[in-house]
Amino acid sequence: MPGLLLSHACEQQVHLVIGASALSLSRVAKSVECGASKVILLAPRDGPQAWESEVERRIADYSGRFVWIEREFEDADLTTLGREEVDRVVDMVFVATPNVSDIGTRISNLCHRLRIPVNVADAPKLSSFTLLSTHIDGPLQIGVTTSGKGCRLASRIRREIISALPKDIAKACEKVGDLKQSIQDGDENQLQHDIEARYHEVGQHDDDAVQSHKFNELVLEDLVQEELAKNRGALKRQRMRWLSQVVEYYPFSELATLSVDQLSSQYRSNSLALAEKAKLMQVSTIVSKTGRIALVGAGPGSAGLLTTAALTAITSADLVLADKLVPAGVLDLIPRHVETYIAKKFPGNAEAAQQELLAMGLSALQQGKYVVRLKQGDPYIFGRGAEEYIFFRHHGYTPSVIPGITSALSGPLFAAISPTHREVADQILICTGTGRKGAAPAIPEFVESRTTVFLMALHRLSDVIGWLAAAGWRMDLPCAIVERASCPDQRVIRTTLEHVVAAFEELGSRPPGILVTGKSCGVIEQIPEGQKWVVDEGFHAQI
Ligand code: SAH
Repeated sequence: MPGLLLSHACEQQVHLVIGASALSLSRVAKSVECGASKVILLAPRDGPQAWESEVERRIADYSGRFVWIEREFEDADLTTLGREEVDRVVDMVFVATPNVSDIGTRISNLCHRLRIPVNVADAPKLSSFTLLSTHIDGPLQIGVTTSGKGCRLASRIRREIISALPKDIAKACEKVGDLKQSIQDGDENQLQHDIEARYHEVGQHDDDAVQSHKFNELVLEDLVQEELAKNRGALKRQRMRWLSQVVEYYPFSELATLSVDQLSSQYRSNSLALAEKAKLMQVSTIVSKTGRIALVGAGPGSAGLLTTAALTAITSADLVLADKLVPAGVLDLIPRHVETYIAKKFPGNAEAAQQELLAMGLSALQQGKYVVRLKQGDPYIFGRGAEEYIFFRHHGYTPSVIPGITSALSGPLFAAISPTHREVADQILICTGTGRKGAAPAIPEFVESRTTVFLMALHRLSDVIGWLAAAGWRMDLPCAIVERASCPDQRVIRTTLEHVVAAFEELGSRPPGILVTGKSCGVIEQIPEGQKWVVDEGFHAQI
């Protein structure tokens, strides 16, 4: 059985380490590092000279938090060496004697009786907890366990994980914590100012910005600014939602350097100033026509799913304007010398962010540059691609459009769902779960032989399911949620319409994701008898 992984708060605690060994010293060091206020080593002074000098050196180093009692363990130690507040019972025990067999069993039994967490080296059966192979980098802790199968292997897995992490990861954690705190204690005036600026300028709403991290909370985009100003909770929630989007989509390097000031300025710059700039540019009459532009589909996630045409475009561009959903693996293929800008489309500033991109594209075109507008999936599937096409054509630059693999069709495939299947499904419908300004979209009728793929639906999943039920859809219809299709952290939840909301609530969201419904969802893979849902983790295709 896998154990429950915890991060144990050790401040104020008294830890007892028993035995004279190199391991006992490393246990002492770990407890001190994790903030135990007192660590007591129990071992007679008959160990090797070098070990004893090392203990003495550490006693000096750990300035009063480390004590050596030079004798064998006695049963009463467990209930007399602890702190007063907990009746002198010690808080945690590590047995690391060179030979644990007898004493280990005795101490383990006593600790179990007294409910003291105990770890006996190399004896998982005697231990009430085991230690993970850990990596600590500032606030970030990573722990790996193979549940006793192999601690060397655990440590190798840990090293592999760490080597794959971006170097700014700890700073990114630090920054996100700071930002969260600053939103919690937020300056109301500043907050109000930001929201007002944004809502003044941004009247509209963009569908593809609504993939909210928070389950089922309606985006408050169309609340008028007076209402927002009155509603402090709403302001805070709005900002929190902004932060959760940033956390979900920003590259780590940008997260690491994001400051609280930027948090405010992003709001303003994405609204007022940029919308103004964009308007000015739209009326600009001096248009030079040497630049060129391509609207390019980047595919659903994996860089392997880019077309060669898309790859050629991004490697020969002067400026790449990318959607926030375009994943890091694809962005990494953009050569360093190519200027790259990632859209800051978040709920509430989608329209301003869109205007900003258009303005930047137009300005680069007027300077004769090759602009690549890189879009998630396919540019013309819920991607505002045609709007952009019309805009640029209107200004004298007709884009070439390079298709991309859409998440709407590849998502099912990577989830082992064939949306058409003989005698099961003979039609596919791609639709959205989000109407204009957060309203309900037109709900399709139920067709037995149809596979329906809903994009932008998961942030309001319970509404969507409610609408389907009201429209007469069968609640025992198989369905699947496919998230981050083709990314390493792809996840598929297979269930039925009846249980999908409960499953998603329990498992939490991992945007972006689609909802696929229809009997086709139960053809290649089925839900085992008696289970309400199954979860498939990871992207297994060799792409
Ligand atoms: N043009 C894109 C869709 C843009 S709308 C395309 O063709 O794929 C944004 C929505 O696409 C998200 O809300 C989500 O429903 C879906 N989506 C995009 N990428 C996805 C992915 N890798 N996995 C699952 N869904 C994805």
